[in-house]
Amino acid sequence: MRVLLIGPPGAGKGTQAARIAAHFDLARIATGDLLREEITADTQLGRAAKAYVDRGDLVPDDLVITITKARVVKANTKGGYILDGYPRTLAQAKAAHRWATARGVPFDLALWFEIGTEELLARLVGRARQEGRSDDTEETIRHRLQVFQAQTSPLVDYYRQRGILVRIQAVGPVDAIAERICGVLHWHRANALAAGADRPEWTLGSADG
Ligand code: AMP
Repeated sequence: MRVLLIGPPGAGKGTQAARIAAHFDLARIATGDLLREEITADTQLGRAAKAYVDRGDLVPDDLVITITKARVVKANTKGGYILDGYPRTLAQAKAAHRWATARGVPFDLALWFEIGTEELLARLVGRARQEGRSDDTEETIRHRLQVFQAQTSPLVDYYRQRGILVRIQAVGPVDAIAERICGVLHWHRANALAAGADRPEWTLGSADG
């Protein structure tokens, strides 16, 4: 199964992605984590990405597409994968669509985490205190929410038009949200299998294309 998560920062994507990945034995690929790893390791890519991440801006598409593609190929497990925080622009969505369909492994579902701005701000400010993330000052938090609205929210329509969008109410206890999501994924998997629509998983050995 191949699933992607769309939602503003603070919507709980990371928490839920970890749970879904464990429950369905999927690889979790979180582009924010990948970028932070590159930054900490002070690689060329990390140095190129750092200023964008610190400002709360999106890292240029070509860098993110490169890093994600490499990880998707590497994370080629039997069960599939969950993308947390990718795609975040239409260009990334189109690139992902191209390489997935070319290999007969399109996304099964896009989960859209819906949540109000006030709730988000409260969560993000709390997280900033706990984790000390350099991109979680109040100013950058507000900026990241604007970036989501401007650049990522159009993906909701993109995946709705493709018929794979599932709206998740991302408020309430973490366990209740996880149950809702797992229910949807179980349902999808059962129906896909019943319809004989299960497709072979990614079997590439290189990061080309
Ligand atoms: P996150 O941990 O998902 O909130 O991501 C932290 C930061 O990493 C974002 O604010 C962006 O600067 C960068 N980032 C993560 N994923 C992407 C993406 N798909 N495209 C561009 N930038 C990204």
